[in-house]
Amino acid sequence: MLEMKGIAVSNGIAIAKAYCLVEPDLSFEKVTISDSEAEKKRLKNAVAEAKKDLEGIKAEAERKFGPDKAAIFQAHLLVLEDPEMLGMIDGKIDEGTNAEAALHEVSTTFIEMFEVMENAYMKERAADIRDVSKRLLSKLLNVEIPDYSRLNEDVIIIANDLTPSMTAQLDKTHVKGFVTDIGGRTSHSAILARTMEIPAVVGAKTATKDIQQGALVIVDGSKGDVIVDAEPEIVGTYQTAQKAYLEERAYFEQFKGEPSISRDGHHVEIAGNIGKPEDADIVLENGGDGVGLFRTEFLYMDRTDLPSEEEQFVSYKSVLEKMKGKPTVVRTLDIGGDKKLPYLKMEEEMNPFLGHRAIRLCLDDTALFRTQLRALLRASIYGNLKIMFPMIATLDEFREAKAILEDVKKELVTEGKEVSDTIEVGMMVEIPSTAVMADLFAKEADFLSIGTNDLIQYTLAADRMNEKVSYLYQPYNPAILRLVKSVIDGAHKEGKWVGMCGEMAGDEIAIPILLAMGLDEFSMSASSILRARAQIAKSSKEDLEKHIEKILQLSSNKEVSGYVKQYLMKEPK
Ligand code: PEP
Ligand code: MG
Repeated sequence: MLEMKGIAVSNGIAIAKAYCLVEPDLSFEKVTISDSEAEKKRLKNAVAEAKKDLEGIKAEAERKFGPDKAAIFQAHLLVLEDPEMLGMIDGKIDEGTNAEAALHEVSTTFIEMFEVMENAYMKERAADIRDVSKRLLSKLLNVEIPDYSRLNEDVIIIANDLTPSMTAQLDKTHVKGFVTDIGGRTSHSAILARTMEIPAVVGAKTATKDIQQGALVIVDGSKGDVIVDAEPEIVGTYQTAQKAYLEERAYFEQFKGEPSISRDGHHVEIAGNIGKPEDADIVLENGGDGVGLFRTEFLYMDRTDLPSEEEQFVSYKSVLEKMKGKPTVVRTLDIGGDKKLPYLKMEEEMNPFLGHRAIRLCLDDTALFRTQLRALLRASIYGNLKIMFPMIATLDEFREAKAILEDVKKELVTEGKEVSDTIEVGMMVEIPSTAVMADLFAKEADFLSIGTNDLIQYTLAADRMNEKVSYLYQPYNPAILRLVKSVIDGAHKEGKWVGMCGEMAGDEIAIPILLAMGLDEFSMSASSILRARAQIAKSSKEDLEKHIEKILQLSSNKEVSGYVKQYLMKEPK
């Protein structure tokens, strides 16, 4: 028996035989050519053939997963048509390099450029270029890329990295799970796994080396565990766990379309966090009451220049239309910290998380800010838009951001453009200064949304990217809970609603405390929505309230979690 640990990216347990994806042999020699025109023609033909393939895969993906997921292949087609990359390859051919080597050298430069980026999302984009250049190379070399779309038994796919095109070709009826050597939570394969609801573990490092074709594999996509050739008793244990997981899911399904309401009749809103317009579909599929956080910075990533007003308008409009009048909180650009834009010349900083980020940057670069606000305001008539500013530290910043928004609104109206007049304007509470003075901010904001990912890092002075201090990510630390309570009370005093869009909002231990404190909106990853709704349906706010004073007197994260488990959590049965 062999046990491996990777990154858990798609929940559930799968047990089936390993199907190892064998990489085609795409080796080639670098040679000097004399007829560069003929070589460029060869490249051009390869591009045309690859394009034909990709269009076919895109149509297939559209049929299987819907247009949003097929958009990945549109991105591939764009890589394939990228004049900068193709021009550089042609340039190398003109210097006498054969097409294969020219392609390899240029794509490697691009891949390396993306791979060194600190942001996980940007890093993953290297996979797109790798996938496209592999396809092109196979065309140049006349080597078939194997077709994985027809399997005749249930399998768990084992691969170094599951490229988006491989993932889309997979025959979903037989693919029960997958394990890859590399990848992260935001890789396309991970996103597709979650959409397909297939248990998956990525980043298992040596999976392809250590797992033999046909071996019995157990994938625990909730924990990141991979077990190969387990003893029958262990297989039995996982079969039981699998059954329990499926029963639990079926149980949660009944909460789809139901209101989010506690046992004693207290209504809350359970919304989803999104990064791209397509994610709104997943929120709706999971029964979300709205979008509590649209991290718009993702629209600015994976590209070489700023998105235009028109491009942004199309994205915002599409989310608002998809949400059909459900509350949709769009956060303005939160760049900086760990999120960098290579095309925006951002200076290196000693402490990027304490630096020129988010609203600070937008208040300095008003042209950038105004473009986003114009797009948002123009889209406002298509749904229930709420605008939220990130990383507000002082009232002056909030006032300044609101003043710019007002000015942009006037500008649009003067131009004869229609803008909704019911847009709520709120702010994130993720810096302790705003949490402490929440009542004052609430006088001027329509709503507050607590960003616990940052609030915790700033309160406990622990960089959220640094593994060595990750023990200080303590959502139940009474210091955090007292701040959260002060935000909720401060906002309620002014008659304003409060949400939470940090990871803590979907945390099973935090939920009963937050419900008792009166949090109005819980915004979380889509896959947690039904579980949270089920948990709230089982809880009585009134009963939970009795514990809050006691909890706030406890002295540590651990004591609080112990207390909640013992007294506040009810089994969802
Ligand atoms: C937060 O800080 O909690 C938050 C939701 O914002 P982000 O994770 O995007 O910084
Ligand atoms: Mg934040």
